[in-house]
Amino acid sequence: MSDQTGAAIQALLEENRTFPPSPEFVAQANANDPAIYDRAAADPEGFWAGYAGELDWFEKWHTVLDWEPPHAKWFVGGKLNAAYNCVDRHAKGPRRDKVAILFEGEPGDVRKITYGELYKEVCRTANALKSLGVGKGDRVAVYMPMVPELAITLLACARIGAPHSVIFGGFSAESLRERINDCGAKALVTADGGWRRGGVVKLKEAADEALQDTPTIEKVLVLRRVGEAAPPATNNGGVGSRPATNNGGVNMVEGRDVWWHDIVPAQPAECAPEPMDSEDILYILYTSGSTGKPKGILHTTAGYLTGVYATSKLVFDLKEDDVFWCTADIGWVTGHSYIVYGPMANGATCVMYEGAPDTPDRDRFWEIIEKHRVTIFYTAPTAIRTFMKWGDAFPQGRDLSSLRLLGTVGEPINPEAWIWYRETIGGGRCPVVDTWWQTETGHMLITPLPGIVATKPGSATRPFPGIDADVVNERGESVPLGGGGYLVIRKPWPGMLRTLWGNDQRYREVYWSRFNGVYFPGDGAKRDEDGYYWLLGRVDDVMLVAGHNISTMELESALVEHPAVAEAAVIGKKHDIKGQSPVAFVTVREGYRTDAAMADELKAFVARKLGAVCRPDEIFFSGDLPKTRSGKIMRRLLRDIAEGRILGDTTTLADPAVVSSLRDKYAGEEG
Ligand code: ATP
Ligand code: MG
Repeated sequence: MSDQTGAAIQALLEENRTFPPSPEFVAQANANDPAIYDRAAADPEGFWAGYAGELDWFEKWHTVLDWEPPHAKWFVGGKLNAAYNCVDRHAKGPRRDKVAILFEGEPGDVRKITYGELYKEVCRTANALKSLGVGKGDRVAVYMPMVPELAITLLACARIGAPHSVIFGGFSAESLRERINDCGAKALVTADGGWRRGGVVKLKEAADEALQDTPTIEKVLVLRRVGEAAPPATNNGGVGSRPATNNGGVNMVEGRDVWWHDIVPAQPAECAPEPMDSEDILYILYTSGSTGKPKGILHTTAGYLTGVYATSKLVFDLKEDDVFWCTADIGWVTGHSYIVYGPMANGATCVMYEGAPDTPDRDRFWEIIEKHRVTIFYTAPTAIRTFMKWGDAFPQGRDLSSLRLLGTVGEPINPEAWIWYRETIGGGRCPVVDTWWQTETGHMLITPLPGIVATKPGSATRPFPGIDADVVNERGESVPLGGGGYLVIRKPWPGMLRTLWGNDQRYREVYWSRFNGVYFPGDGAKRDEDGYYWLLGRVDDVMLVAGHNISTMELESALVEHPAVAEAAVIGKKHDIKGQSPVAFVTVREGYRTDAAMADELKAFVARKLGAVCRPDEIFFSGDLPKTRSGKIMRRLLRDIAEGRILGDTTTLADPAVVSSLRDKYAGEEG
């Protein structure tokens, strides 16, 4: 439905607080002249070329952009190497003894690797991969815990021109197998295991299961991370099934599997970087698959590197002495772009943490910030809401005064959580950058520049300079300010995906066919009177209630404003008269009741905030919500539960038990 404004999705929540950057922050910011926006809009290619020029090239490009919709080529004719840009150029200069990777394992082990050391490690690993027969263009699957060797492996692949495809270490053998086979990987880099919540995630065991049916894999490089601490393998389930060799209980297949420590340290610490064409593939990364069969997002070298370099520099305001911590796993794009390629292209010190935020206690993150004097902290709204639920005592017990900038990514952040983050973690002094982007976009597209843009809680504010975004209705017409609709990006940007691996047709269909010639990310958004963007979640999650298109995210945000609510997921359930009716799944904060009176109170609260049409028909209390392994709520499964359908694919869930128990409870209460 469209109202008079032409809006496709209604804009309901109003949030009027604004937070301009402090004069001190502005004075020191990497970007503090608002003219950057006009300059980039007038000449986006020139704008991006300026940042590309800050990278090191073996040969300069001749054409900035070659755009034949929907295919873009950036910096055509150029030659460069991503690992050279992230490592060599720092290792050769004054940053040689600067810490590149500041690693903390879950058990508490700390390693600090300087750019000089990183250079040698990357070269050795690159040589080891070559010795295993990996060459330019061969795909390498990577299935590892969050340890320095994971970042080193990515850089080693980039060095020799072998596209990497990282599969998140929490994924099952089945997910690993499917992704290896889709990209036809020649080698796998994995580990015996990694530490998580005091236990061992047995990666090699899962890999062995996957490798029973992966015809293209020839070699497997295995890092020993947990060592003898790993419980013995039970390959045949029976007594006496332990392998003959003493491999710490790890099954090593003769001729296929090689220990990292047996081959990498012995390699020469020099390996010439492969001169890569700007458009050569840097990596393939499968999206988490919360919306169906995983898509192999393909990123190339020069445009991607330029995009992550520029956004890291301007949005994180990176300075020489910053200690930067992005809490994402490198298994997600956030880790690719903002642990490895973006910050390292800038020569930053990057924190990597292996384990869980509540091990050994619920202040682990704050302890890490205190101990390593972290200055920039980037995490997900789901984590922030969890920290809120745990209570303020944990952060308050630690010294967080080193922080100077905070960021979020992954989901819309509701204003309550944003304010909590700013006050309780940032002490009210750190700008908060809410950054919207996707695996597909490669780097941030909608985000504040912290030294220029006044922020509003819950808004990703405005497109990054050079990004031409819009909000449109069903017909693709721009919706006036104040209205909501579909987010689109009108012009190509350097880090955009080039296609889907092996499926260009699907690439065209998914991203470029909804609105002719413009990129459709699949998200809803509204713009306020100041032109600020407010992301409304996936359009698949929008409800149609009595003729109104309502974003589930706005109801969730309203619910979370109630003091009792820690987290909420709203769905539209089929309804005979209204079409759909809102149903809310709610997790309460510790100490609050979950009875009929509370449900009524919450229904009234939402109706008061957003209007009667938004009043949830049902409130369902749940200790947990089904989330993907990257922490996003899977509303599709909640719809299945509410409508009594068979549950759809649950393989990408962090904890499949949550949905089945939710389904049983729901069925019980519905009678
Ligand atoms: P899949 O596409 O496989 O279902 P996914 O979309 O969860 O997985 P990502 O590419 O990691 O995988 O996530 C991008 C999506 O996350 C965006 O399309 C958007 O829905 C959401 N998102 C990311 N950052 C923000 C943000 N700052 N504000 C609102 N939503 C965000
Ligand atoms: Mg997506």
